[in-house]
Amino acid sequence: MPIGGRSGSGNPSRRSTSTPRFRTVRRPRRPPTHAAHVGAHRQKDGLNYLGLAPRVGRRAGTLLTQVAELAEAHGSRRVRTSIEQNLIVLDIPDDQLDSLSTALDTVDLPSRPSTFRRQTMACTGIEFYKLAIVNTKDRAMTVVEELERRLPNFDTWFTLNFNGCPNSCARIQTADIGLRGQIVTTVDGDQVEGFNVQLGGGLTAQTDFGRKTRGVKVTATELPDYLERVLRRFQDTRQPDESFSAWVARSDDTTLT
Ligand code: SF4
Repeated sequence: MPIGGRSGSGNPSRRSTSTPRFRTVRRPRRPPTHAAHVGAHRQKDGLNYLGLAPRVGRRAGTLLTQVAELAEAHGSRRVRTSIEQNLIVLDIPDDQLDSLSTALDTVDLPSRPSTFRRQTMACTGIEFYKLAIVNTKDRAMTVVEELERRLPNFDTWFTLNFNGCPNSCARIQTADIGLRGQIVTTVDGDQVEGFNVQLGGGLTAQTDFGRKTRGVKVTATELPDYLERVLRRFQDTRQPDESFSAWVARSDDTTLT
């Protein structure tokens, strides 16, 4: 007698193929959430964690030593890294939180960074990887500083990821703006470092891999101007509460170049 979708003697090779062997439970997809683990947050045990934003994930050994010493001096013995290339100090008592945050600010590890600094990520790039095509970390740091200066009031959630080659160690396909390093030929015929641009990517139920807008390429020198141009258009024409990826999805190519 068949039991639970099985038939015959119980030999796996003779099971009925009409009934699935495993049931899959379809869970509703989560609404979009944005979390970079930056800033002060309460832990379940009543202590706190403090997320910090190093410049495009760069953390020298001396800086890590400073973080460890400051964390220990404020009652914490745990520091972690995040997938967004940020640092997290855990287990901080309430009365140590402000003091630790101030101390980490002095070593250039803000817990309240700009949008650009918090969510810009860069892979290793040509500095330490001989097969890479372009510099990523230094370039990304320059871009963050430029965007902070040019768009000081930009506070919408926004991710900017740099790759140094066609591999995707910095996950450019799922960034609001993903930049893939390549050599670009200028109008004068010079070959210089540049980036292929993908726009509007994400990992939420409402987003997909980034859009390649007719293969938009920008030279590294032009990059701050290009990003400023696109972000200003976004600020000027977005609907209330519209995300960058949603804005990209309804924008034409001209708006995105
Ligand atoms: S994306 Fe390319 S350059 Fe960047 S870390 Fe990966 S392999 Fe290296």
